[in-house]
Amino acid sequence: MMDAILSGNALLAELEPSTRARFLPHFQRAELRRGDVLHSDGQPTEWVYFPLTGLVAILTQTIAGESVQTGMVGCNGGVGVLEAFGSGRFRSRGEVQIPGTAVRLGVARYREMLHSSPGLERAVERHLEMLVTEARQLMACNALHPIEGRLSRSILDALDRSCLDKVLPLTQEALAQMLGAQRTTVSSCLARLQREGLIRSSRGAIEVLDVPRLERIACDCRESLAIAKADIWTPEEQQSASA
Ligand SMILES: [Zn+2]
Repeated sequence: MMDAILSGNALLAELEPSTRARFLPHFQRAELRRGDVLHSDGQPTEWVYFPLTGLVAILTQTIAGESVQTGMVGCNGGVGVLEAFGSGRFRSRGEVQIPGTAVRLGVARYREMLHSSPGLERAVERHLEMLVTEARQLMACNALHPIEGRLSRSILDALDRSCLDKVLPLTQEALAQMLGAQRTTVSSCLARLQREGLIRSSRGAIEVLDVPRLERIACDCRESLAIAKADIWTPEEQQSASA
């Protein structure tokens, strides 16, 4: 049962069967409840989380206490995969934005598993390259793209990564934090998208009604990142498919 569950995460799916079998007993199931803080800013990283459904927001906080979202991780990656090395401390806050489930592994076990699995090692390297690429793109996006395109892109990104079907339990506050925008701005923008029949926005949830049209409104960062993802991930997948 647990064995099959691990395949629901893009990184763990790359584990070789023998490594998977060896580390299987050390994985724990974890419920991701909205608002749960998986990692606190400046604190040692104790667990590495691999979401299966739901979404974890990476929030970066200023000294004055304001915070903005600087990343999101779902079934496409792991939370703490980078911090388990280096200083061992998380430099942002990892907070559950969309509830779901995850599996987690203690940091020492994770390091051991990574070193014994070339497949996982490659997957984590790609994931980290993708995170850096996304962070750069996000900086350009924040400076250059209008809010409607950014909001549409964020909704589609959250849909992809949460591994949920069409309905996202996302609050307007969470979207505002995601975009570094005022809640009122997000609210009027959502109302516009709803009038056009692209989404249905209700209290605490966004239902995506028309993915193709939302894709057309989304800023071109979505396309840039899709190309980057294909470049970063595809060559190895093709190699393993032909092996
Ligand atoms: Zn953009």
